[in-house]
Amino acid sequence: MQLCRAYRDVFLSLLAPQLIMNVWDEVPQEYIAIIKDQLGALEDKTERHNNLEQIVGRRWMPKPLWAVRNYDHDGIEAWEKLSGIPSSHSRITPYCIYIHVPFCRARCGYCDCYAFPLSKNEQRHIQQYTDALVQEIEMWGSQELLKERIISTVHFGGGTPLMLGISNLDRIVNALKHNFCFSSKTELAFETTSSMLTEEILASFNQLGFSRIHIGVQSLQEDVRKKIGRRESPKTVLEKIRCAVRFGWIVSTDVIIGLPGYRNPGILDDLDSLMENGVEGFSIYELVQSPRNRLFFDQFHLTQQPILDKFIMFQTAFQHLLKHGFENCLYNHLSKHRDKNLYFTSPSRHEDLLGIGTIADGYFGNFQYRHSTYLAYLKSISEKNPGFEGGLVRSAAEDVYRQLEVEIRSGKPDPLVFVANIGYEKSMDLFAKWIRLKMICVDPSGDSCTLTPNGAWFIGKLLSDAAENIDTTTFIY
Ligand code: SF4
Repeated sequence: MQLCRAYRDVFLSLLAPQLIMNVWDEVPQEYIAIIKDQLGALEDKTERHNNLEQIVGRRWMPKPLWAVRNYDHDGIEAWEKLSGIPSSHSRITPYCIYIHVPFCRARCGYCDCYAFPLSKNEQRHIQQYTDALVQEIEMWGSQELLKERIISTVHFGGGTPLMLGISNLDRIVNALKHNFCFSSKTELAFETTSSMLTEEILASFNQLGFSRIHIGVQSLQEDVRKKIGRRESPKTVLEKIRCAVRFGWIVSTDVIIGLPGYRNPGILDDLDSLMENGVEGFSIYELVQSPRNRLFFDQFHLTQQPILDKFIMFQTAFQHLLKHGFENCLYNHLSKHRDKNLYFTSPSRHEDLLGIGTIADGYFGNFQYRHSTYLAYLKSISEKNPGFEGGLVRSAAEDVYRQLEVEIRSGKPDPLVFVANIGYEKSMDLFAKWIRLKMICVDPSGDSCTLTPNGAWFIGKLLSDAAENIDTTTFIY
C-alpha cells in the first residue's frame, strides 16, 4: 500500500508541473497575478523542498466536539438538563431552527451528507418520520420560555426535504408556527435538488411563508452532470431558477470544486449563468473524500487529481464572485443583495440553535446535544427523550475555542474577540501570521478583517492555529 502511494507521489510530482501549467492556462488573465500572490504568500522560504502541492494539501477540518469526546449525558439526561436551559437564556435573543430530513430520491455517489433513498415502504417511512418531527416540535414547544423568543430562521436541510411532500411539510410548518414565536422577519428556507422543484411547489411554499431556497446545482456542465448522476439539462435547471426568482425567492446554490472533469472555463461559465439568472448566494466547496463517497473517488480516480489544481480553481471561482460584487457572509459562502444565509451565519449573531430530527445538532448556551441516526431516532423518541443520542457541557476551554471558531467561520474574525479570550500578545501574533500568509486581510476602514480565498481554503488550519493558543492541557481538538 505504502509502495503504491510512493509510486503515486512520484508520478504526481512528475506530472504536476504539466497539469499546473494547464490549469493556469484556464485562469483568466485578470486573476492570475492575484492568485499567484495568494499562492506566493504560502511558500515557506525556510523549507528546502518548497513543494506547493504539499503546502496547499496540508489541511484538514476539525471534527465536532461530540466526535472527539464522550457525551456527558445520555439522551434522557440531556433532555432533563435542557428542559431548564432555554429559560435561563435571554428572552430577547432570537434563535434559529434546523430540521434534518434524511431522504433522497436516489443516493448520489459523490455526496457526503447523511441521506439515503427509500426503496421500500417509502410512504410508511415518510409518515413515521413526519409524526416523529411533529412530536419533537411539540416537546420543545412545551418549554414556555422558549416559546417567547423570536425565531430568526427555520432551515430544512438534508437530504431532500421535499421528499416529505407538500402536505407533510405543511403539517410541520403549522406545528412550528403553533409552538414557536415567528415574526414578520422569520425566514423559512429549504435545500433541494432542482429536479424536485416544480412551479406548484414554489407557489405552495411561498404561501406557507418560505422565501429562501438553496439548490444543489453542483455544475451546469453536461458531461460533469452525467458523471454525478444529474439528469436535468442545464437549460431546465436555469428555467427553474428563473421561475423561483420570478416568484420572489432568494436563491443560493453550491459550486463543487473537484467533481470529475469540472474545470475552468466551465466553472466560471456556470457562475456567470447562475448570476445572470438571479442567484444571490454561492457556497464554494471542495469535494472531499469520506467513507460515504470513497467508491466515487475510486471510480473517477479523483485522489490522483493534483490538489494544487483544485486550489487554483477554488481561488478563481472566489475571485470571480468577488469581482462581481459578492462578499463573504461565511468563510465559503459569498452573497449579495438579499441573501443573508441566516442559518449558517446564526452563530455570529450569538443565536442558539434548536436542531430537530435525526443527526441534527443543537445548542443552548454551552450545552450541546445531538440526535441519533435514523432508526435509533425513531426508536428512542418518547416523552422522556426527543431522539437525542446524548448531550455535553462545553468546558471553559472548549467554550473559548467555540468563540474563536465562530469568529473564523464567520469570514470576518474580530481581533477583539481573540484578545478577550487568549490575550493581546497571542492574538497579535496570530493575526500577524495570518496577514503574512494572506489568510486574512484588513478591511480599508482598518476596523475589521476578512478571510481571503487562502483563508477559506485553509479554514481548518486557522482553526487549529486558534486551538493551539488556548491555554489548557485538557483541551481536545
Ligand atoms: S447530493 Fe443531494 S440529492 Fe444527492 S444524495 Fe446528497 S443530499 Fe441527496
